Amino acid sequence: PETARLVASRVLDVPDFPQPGVMFKDLMPLFADGAAFREVTDGIVAYHGRDSFDVVVGIEARGFVVAAAVAYAAGVGVVPVRKAGKLPRAAHSVSYALEYGEATLEVHEDAFTAGHRVLVVDDVLATGGTAEATLDLVERAGGTVTGFTVLLELAFLGARKRLAPRPVHALLTV
Ligand code: IMP
Repeated sequence: PETARLVASRVLDVPDFPQPGVMFKDLMPLFADGAAFREVTDGIVAYHGRDSFDVVVGIEARGFVVAAAVAYAAGVGVVPVRKAGKLPRAAHSVSYALEYGEATLEVHEDAFTAGHRVLVVDDVLATGGTAEATLDLVERAGGTVTGFTVLLELAFLGARKRLAPRPVHALLTV
């Protein structure tokens, strides 16, 4: 559909970033294009339905950009999921394995009221480790994940299988 073409036309492939051998997908051109950014934002809200979520979670840092826009368009609030040590108050933590080492994500303990329906968004879905940790974190904090959307999914890394049976919505899958 139109949003998939839009994402495809506004993504830049950056070789050897952040490490040699990695092809980084840069979505800054999509964020920088007002009409395109609005269209993908509205597309995400339309896909899930304006009344299907109570709050939007964005994953640091590019997920914040998407989350704020989607939340504004739907008239709901934003909760940030942050890297370790950034949140000022008591937080839940989930650690997960990276190719080299480990990463930790956190969310405030009082971020959700019980049963809050949460839409989680991020820019790129790669191995799915970040998403898996975030979805666990939201549930641990008392939220109910009702949707997960990324702008771009790198299918060859198998995140969809890793996250199953949780549904993954990607505007563009490559
Ligand atoms: P994963 O945990 O391997 O799925 O990596 C996904 C996380 O890393 C997301 O928060 C993305 O923002 C970031 N990420 C991984 N690969 C890329 C990429 O090629 N472009 C932009 N962000 C990426």
